[in-house]
Formats: sequence, C-alpha cells, structure tokens
Amino acid sequence: MESWASVPSIIVQGSDWYKAKGTEDSKGTKIFQIVGHVNTPGVVEANMGLPLSTLIDQIGGGCRQGKQIKAVQPGGAACGFITREHLNTPLEYAAMSKVGGGVGSGTMLVMDDTVCVIDVVKCLLYFFQHESCGFCLPCRRGTRVLYEMICKVAAGQATQADLDRMLTLSKSMVDSANCALGWSPYSFLQTTMERFKDEYDAHLAGNCPLGMCKAEEHSH
Ligand code: SF4
Repeated sequence: MESWASVPSIIVQGSDWYKAKGTEDSKGTKIFQIVGHVNTPGVVEANMGLPLSTLIDQIGGGCRQGKQIKAVQPGGAACGFITREHLNTPLEYAAMSKVGGGVGSGTMLVMDDTVCVIDVVKCLLYFFQHESCGFCLPCRRGTRVLYEMICKVAAGQATQADLDRMLTLSKSMVDSANCALGWSPYSFLQTTMERFKDEYDAHLAGNCPLGMCKAEEHSH
C-alpha cells in the first residue's frame, strides 16, 4: 500500500524528482510512525536519509516530559535496539543496519529512561510467541521457550548460561525458521544484551533497577 501510494506522484513528477528526495543508498520517501515516549506521536511521510533525531524532535516533539531517551527500536518489533549515541544515524537502509537497527516498517518506538529493557523484551517475546503461526518447529517452539526464559530473567531466577542459551537459540532460529517472524528475536536479544548488559546483570542478581519486574511474574 505504501509503495502504491507513491506511484501517482512519481508518474506525474518523474522518477528523478522522487529519487532526489532520498539519498544514494535509500531513494525517495518513506512513511514513519513515531510512537512511545514522545510528546506528539504520529505518522509522517519523510525523506529517506533524515537523521533519526530530527524525526524524533521535529515530528515527535522530542522525548516526553523532558526525560532522556534510553533506547529506540526503529523499524518495528523485529529490529534491534539502538541507544542515544546512534540518534544521529540517517534513516537509510545501510546506515541503520550498521548500527544494529533497521528501517523496517518505519515504526520508531522511543523509550525514555523510565523503561526497564527486560520488561520491554518480555513484551516483545510475548508478542512473537503469540503471533507464531506454528508451521515450523524452530519458531513454534523457539518463540515459546524464549518467552519462558525472559520471564525467568525478569523474575530474577536466570543465570548467564540462560542468556547465552537465549542467544544461541534465537540465532539458530535465524538459520532455520521459515519466515521473518522466526528470525526476529535475535536482533533485539543481541542488541539489548550487548547494550544494556548492566540491566541484564542486575536482573540475574535478582534486582530490577526500575522496580518493574516482580519475582512472581511468569506471564505477561
Ligand atoms: S517462522 Fe513463520 S512460518 Fe514458521 S512458525 Fe513462525 S510464523 Fe510460522
């Protein structure tokens, strides 16, 4: 639908006009959704190549209530998490991929510093195990095992070996699942474990620094 919506303008104004709106790597425009902890969430069509920070500040009105951005999951639920240091990355396919994010669906989930990353990952894994169609074993079983394991992390009952197993399992799903849904958990597990290691370590020690994960929680 998004591609079809661009066609009338390209026919009327020409392909060079459209291509000039983007960059050499990523031509034209894209529809972005800015959601989460911003002052003015919404949908906008913007030129490819715009820095992510410009989209968040000028379209999303910046982080809500003057708080600091902790993480952004650009490109939808299947993407990795990027942090403040990546906010000036241009919204191009190659550049976003290089920092472990992605343009994907164009949905930018902005999270401020009140968010527990483990709690967000738990919500994402709940979503993926629920959405798995069950056709292939790696995704049907893998998404459920990953969800059970993140519940264990949130409850302060996991070990470093469990985190290692989650990464190994999600990587094997990239190699063996039938479609993109089964490939998705690896990106956000890998980037959050690397970029929010302190937060994972605190949970392994039985402490949720933001007080959002409770010991008795085993489901969403
Ligand atoms: S990877 Fe795709 S086909 Fe396989 S179970 Fe998951 S959603 Fe279904």
